[in-house]
Amino acid sequence: MVKHILILPGDGIGPEIMAEAVKALKIANEKYSLEVELEFDDLGGAAYDHYGVPLADETLARARAADAVLLGAVGGPKWDTIEPALRPERGLLKIRSQLELFGNLRPAILYPQLASASTLKPDVVSGLDILIVRELTGGIYFGQPRERRTLDNGERQAYDTLPYSESEIRRIAKVGFDMAMVRNRKLCSVDKANVLASSQLWREVVEEVARDYPEVELSHMYVDNCAMQLVRAPKQFDVIVTDNMFGDILSDQASMLTGSIGMLPSASLDRNNKGMYEPCHGSAPDIAGQGVANPLATILSVSMMLRYTFNQVQAADAIEKAVSLVLDQGLRTGDIMSDGCRRVGTAE
Ligand code: ATP
Ligand code: MG
Repeated sequence: MVKHILILPGDGIGPEIMAEAVKALKIANEKYSLEVELEFDDLGGAAYDHYGVPLADETLARARAADAVLLGAVGGPKWDTIEPALRPERGLLKIRSQLELFGNLRPAILYPQLASASTLKPDVVSGLDILIVRELTGGIYFGQPRERRTLDNGERQAYDTLPYSESEIRRIAKVGFDMAMVRNRKLCSVDKANVLASSQLWREVVEEVARDYPEVELSHMYVDNCAMQLVRAPKQFDVIVTDNMFGDILSDQASMLTGSIGMLPSASLDRNNKGMYEPCHGSAPDIAGQGVANPLATILSVSMMLRYTFNQVQAADAIEKAVSLVLDQGLRTGDIMSDGCRRVGTAE
């Protein structure tokens, strides 16, 4: 069956890294008879320039019709001065929420070849392979009401709201358990149930979902403790499932354990495992157009797409192996460069 993939290179280094990811995808397509068909469009600043908006309706329609979306990165100084509603990042938030991509998967894997680039000691991180499952379309980033106001006494005050409904928690918990089932059957749910009502419901619903996954060893951890444990002994974790804000913070923290953000892919999935795949890093305007950006996070995003949306495990494994072989050969872009290695550009 033909698989339609919408490619959105975006801004900054986006087009450069995407060109390399598309090469990897085309090679996998030939070798493993994947029957993929690629379509290209704009998102973010590129879309603003082309369509006058950061996400055009026709692009959104193409994304809906596609089986998967592969995204580079969006944003850059060129669009800093346009009105907030038309900024590149708005296009990204809109496509995520319109496609209902509530399940954000962010692996933090330490490649042994890059062990010296980690912020932690080699014995603490060697073999590190964590998957953070972050709820992406609910919680405090979207909760209403939110307001900034002036109190009667003249003081400024602001507040946000952190709502989670049972169904929102249940669907992300299921993603966490499903991932645990295909990995090492160990899941840690992270919350702040000692303080927050939303977290108490979170914990309750996760426990309910756990009944359908008796093989998975479930634990709960408060987010502050989790932050500490991630830098103390990160290898105790396998899959972590958590809410939108906690996941935002913890996944950035975990990414640094692996050395470079230029190595980390991500997936955002809807209820049918249809997804959008993108590197964890941004558009890196400081190095855009120079041909020096690390394309591996985007190439690894292709691998995640083949694994999670298309169930093409062999092709996904092959791409990951290829990345590892490149590192074995001592080839490094600037962000992961170290002594004794050879510095190469994006395309090489
Ligand atoms: P965003 O808000 O879109 O996440 P950001 O401001 O957080 O963007 P990035 O664009 O991710 O930041 O860049 C952060 C730093 O990491 C920059 O110095 C950038 O050059 C570097 N960087 C990001 N991605 C890569 C990459 N693929 N290869 C090399 N360096 C990168
Ligand atoms: Mg960032």
